[in-house]
Amino acid sequence: MSRTACFLPPHLLRRLAELDPAAATTLVTDDAIRAARAAVPPTVLAPVRAADAPAWTVHDAGGEQELPGRPVRSAGERATGDVAVDEAADGVAASLALLAEVFGRDSFDGAGAPVLATVHFGQRYVNAFWDGTQLVFGDGDGVLFDRFTKPVDVIGHELAHALTERTAGLVYRDQPGALNESVSDVFAACLKQRLLGQTAAEADWLVGEGLFLPGVQARALRDMRAPGTAYDDPRLGQDPQVGHLDDYLDTTDDNGGVHLNSGIPNRAFHLAAVAIGGRTWEGAGPIWYAALTGGQVGPETDFAGFAAATVAAAGEHAEAVRGAWAGVGVTAGAAPAGAGSSQPAPAPAASRVRVRRTGGFIGSAVESVVDLDAGGLDAETAGELRELVGRVGALPASPRSNHPDAFSYEIELGGRSGRLAESDLDPDLRRIVDLVLRNGQV
Ligand SMILES: [Zn+2]
Repeated sequence: MSRTACFLPPHLLRRLAELDPAAATTLVTDDAIRAARAAVPPTVLAPVRAADAPAWTVHDAGGEQELPGRPVRSAGERATGDVAVDEAADGVAASLALLAEVFGRDSFDGAGAPVLATVHFGQRYVNAFWDGTQLVFGDGDGVLFDRFTKPVDVIGHELAHALTERTAGLVYRDQPGALNESVSDVFAACLKQRLLGQTAAEADWLVGEGLFLPGVQARALRDMRAPGTAYDDPRLGQDPQVGHLDDYLDTTDDNGGVHLNSGIPNRAFHLAAVAIGGRTWEGAGPIWYAALTGGQVGPETDFAGFAAATVAAAGEHAEAVRGAWAGVGVTAGAAPAGAGSSQPAPAPAASRVRVRRTGGFIGSAVESVVDLDAGGLDAETAGELRELVGRVGALPASPRSNHPDAFSYEIELGGRSGRLAESDLDPDLRRIVDLVLRNGQV
């Protein structure tokens, strides 16, 4: 992902620039960083791994905008007394601990990548972001915004952008972009609630609490339980987040409103966590993590597709998760092709197995359906299909790869569905395709 993922939405950055021209430096800087990143080939941005590198290192930019700045504290070293440095150190360490101890993952890439963070970036800089290589935190403007390292969930949010980049790779626009944003808030909520030892019912579900300075009429930057209610201040305006698919904002701003529409999946996560009960990082958190990393969610997955992946990963909590998504107007279904579509697919029958094969050199489509409960198959074939369907794991929402003239498949297995390339088919799926195309109703 070449695009910088920023913590503050563009509408707030613009408002700040109107209020205080000095804060406009943030806007200029963000645009300059985006432009610089866009000009650099992605391979140059890949983190360099050293076998003996510390798990994390915090750098000090000293008010300049050179990255990464001067290294000031690494894993295993004592506190420096610089509040921003030590907050970044503690926040990154706690985020890595959540990944390792709760999700069994070694850093954001799953292979122990060292985490780099820079504090004191720029002057009166009102943002935090992941630039594809490292975390960056400003000191705030001292008027409305305090340090961006102050709320630990801001740090968790930014590190989760690195996790998403290395797993599902959700593109940063429209519904996939809103999911990318939401997944970062989900990780941030798990981090904050775990550090506070709170259950889903006890938690405040605020993101960025403590970021605003006294005098600002704001509880936080976002409210996952009640999107759109986090702040209402004469200088900032009102929190514009939405929390239901009916209110989805079609806009070209903010990469299609990724920070605004993220309220919809945020609220679904809150509803699931409360319905499941107990501690969020042990209940709904692992379900969302499994969906993000399990292969069913890809770069173009939309709300319905992501919802389906969470339902598929929810086990005994499937109905609670399905109900949570229904509470924000999203029907857990197959992801329609293309980003930004909000039309949920109808829930297919549990006994239905459908294969649609398209593409190939001649470009024709064949489709075949069997109903395992309808008795149209001989007992042996039905039994084999039932066993295969039970054995197949999550299906990807979009093909992982494809080659010219190879077939593409749309496969529906009793309520789950996915899109696969010829090269994505494992032996079980290949056998299912053969059996259904040979024995099913066209
Ligand atoms: Zn973000």
